[in-house]
Amino acid sequence: MTRPLLPTTITGSLPKPGWLAEPARLWAPWKLEGAGLTEGKRDAVRLVLREQEKAGIQILSDGEQTRQHFVTTFIENLEGVDFEHRKTVRIRNRYDADVPVVTGPIARRHPVYVEDFRFMRAETAGPIKATLPGPMTMVDTLYDAHYGSREKLAWEFARVLNEEARELVAAGVNVVQFDEPAFNVYFDEVRDWGIRTLERAAEGLGCTTCVHICYGYGIKANIDWKKTLGSEWRQYEQTFPLLQASKIDQVSLECHNSNVPIELIALLRGKDVLVGAIDVATDRVETPEEVAGTLRKALDHVSPEHLVACTNCGMVPLTRDVAAAKLRALGAGAAIVRKELGG
Ligand SMILES: [Zn+2]
Repeated sequence: MTRPLLPTTITGSLPKPGWLAEPARLWAPWKLEGAGLTEGKRDAVRLVLREQEKAGIQILSDGEQTRQHFVTTFIENLEGVDFEHRKTVRIRNRYDADVPVVTGPIARRHPVYVEDFRFMRAETAGPIKATLPGPMTMVDTLYDAHYGSREKLAWEFARVLNEEARELVAAGVNVVQFDEPAFNVYFDEVRDWGIRTLERAAEGLGCTTCVHICYGYGIKANIDWKKTLGSEWRQYEQTFPLLQASKIDQVSLECHNSNVPIELIALLRGKDVLVGAIDVATDRVETPEEVAGTLRKALDHVSPEHLVACTNCGMVPLTRDVAAAKLRALGAGAAIVRKELGG
């Protein structure tokens, strides 16, 4: 597939407008209901599309405007899950959250985001990306009272994710991205079944497939955890060779302001690398030149035709103004390097 040199995209989420849900807050409840909520979500999708297009972002996200949370909203739409009687669990060994409980066999009785993306498809001519949680991250974001095996549950989630993803592609989605922050924590499980369940989720989609692996949103629990990781974050060193040998097309990773040794991206040889050039854990807005600097460093280890400019993670914990400014910096920074490359 030919495509423009050094395309830009974002990991996924953006803050929501204040009339839809409280911005800069994870799991913020909706402020509307019924038909008003449906309309409000669609208006928010329109807004984030225009904002990305104006900023020079090319592979467009819905900013996850139609979901409360990137994992639980999907899980709550499945059969076999009780989301009224939640249990408190520790997420990725880091922070407590009230999560749904698996009480019986998992099934997807109805599409979850398909209508949202059909709407989005009609709103833009550009390539669009849909994000879904990865199987391992789903397993790690609930309480299982039925299967008694993380691997078994992951295979069930992979099956229903694949059903959803196939319908998203049929609705006109060009890239399906699975978010697997859990891949940075459970290395033995990634090796034993994480990659295989991810491939199962992405099987036969006929579109570009991507996996996003990061060190989490810029919330306190994650920032504290990062402080314990030392001066070199080598977590990717364990997963990248496995992903390089996998059928997944693209890998989205955290880079700018992180302690990830940039040369680790060479382990992804042959894959598209979505380099995080925007730090989502600070309100300080990067300059275009800083973004360009991060992308240039990446180019020492990835060929230009495989480099994609991206954010470190979702921007939902930021204010709208900051997120919009960071989008513009990303677009402008990528444009500088694209010009240098003769694109
Ligand atoms: Zn992330």
